[in-house]
Amino acid sequence: MNEERHNWTKEEILDIYNLPMMELLYKAATIHREHHDPNTVQVSTLLSIKTGGCPEDCGYCPQAARYHTDIEGNDLMTVSHVKAQALRAKASGSSRVCMGAAWRNVKDGPEFDQVLEMVRTINKLDMEVCCTLGMLTENQAKRLAEAGLYAYNHNLDTSEDYYKDVISTRAFQDRLETIDNVRKSNVTVCSGGIIGMGEKLEDRAGMLVALATLNPQPESVPINALVAVEGTPMENMEPIPIWDMIRMVATTRIVMPKTQVRLSAGRTEMSREGQAMCFFAGANSIFAGDKLLTTPNPDVNEDMEMFSLLGLEPQKAFVKMPQPKTVEEEESQYEAIGERPKWTRPDHTIERNELAKQKAKSS
Ligand code: SF4
Repeated sequence: MNEERHNWTKEEILDIYNLPMMELLYKAATIHREHHDPNTVQVSTLLSIKTGGCPEDCGYCPQAARYHTDIEGNDLMTVSHVKAQALRAKASGSSRVCMGAAWRNVKDGPEFDQVLEMVRTINKLDMEVCCTLGMLTENQAKRLAEAGLYAYNHNLDTSEDYYKDVISTRAFQDRLETIDNVRKSNVTVCSGGIIGMGEKLEDRAGMLVALATLNPQPESVPINALVAVEGTPMENMEPIPIWDMIRMVATTRIVMPKTQVRLSAGRTEMSREGQAMCFFAGANSIFAGDKLLTTPNPDVNEDMEMFSLLGLEPQKAFVKMPQPKTVEEEESQYEAIGERPKWTRPDHTIERNELAKQKAKSS
């Protein structure tokens, strides 16, 4: 079984990224099956609880106050509005709600208290609740944990080398510090990035090195394709080919075997065939709903149609996969529960048969 490794190098990751496509897909899909059910994909809902007017200058983001985009800014949503949206999301198959606020950092005070109440409210709905609120202190992370937060999202966005070409109002190290603060609580970490911002392949690998060498690795890694929005400095970026997305997902799966890899922004530009290859390569989450914070996203009905076409099931909340480490462990689980997990690992078939033969001989 491929376990977590924390000593990945950029060269090793580039070698994986550049493998012949069929080899890359085979490796990634094999690792995916060792750790995850390949027929389930988590459906998550991203809610923008406070939109626009952000003092930061992330070059890809239409919510930065300094860019002239046509998004409508909104003050912090009410708790009852958030609850209504979460209930709607749950009814259409979502098991996770991620709330995003366009803030540089969290400030203690009435607005943070309101977010804590939102977290408590969604938690009671038996859904995973995630927040992305900007930089966070250790104490704020602990308060979110006490309210029942399941995950905190804080993307590295790109490599440390390319970071200053994308954002100048904060440093890569600030991101790592917030992730570290989250790790000091019992909240899980969600951190990933965006491809298609003019970065080199080395930067994609560099971002994966930064994530994969965290110990433990993030429980969740969103991979986004840039959605170039008019009015942002990246408005003229060309869309990336689907093959880049497939390679990035597969490489992420290989270097972070247990992580939930989230196929995030940019899906409106992807065909169903392209998305299916991403699922095969190890993506096991999508964001549903016609908006992803402020950018377009496929409608939930279209996604459910795709799921039914591919025989995919939406993943339940808080799923921890049973992970037998050896064939003996797998056998004893089988004997105990009387059924095999749907995602039996084909590479264990020979060992299983051998074990059965030995048992038959000795009896
Ligand atoms: S990505 Fe977040 S921090 Fe950056 S400008 Fe947008 S809302 Fe602000």
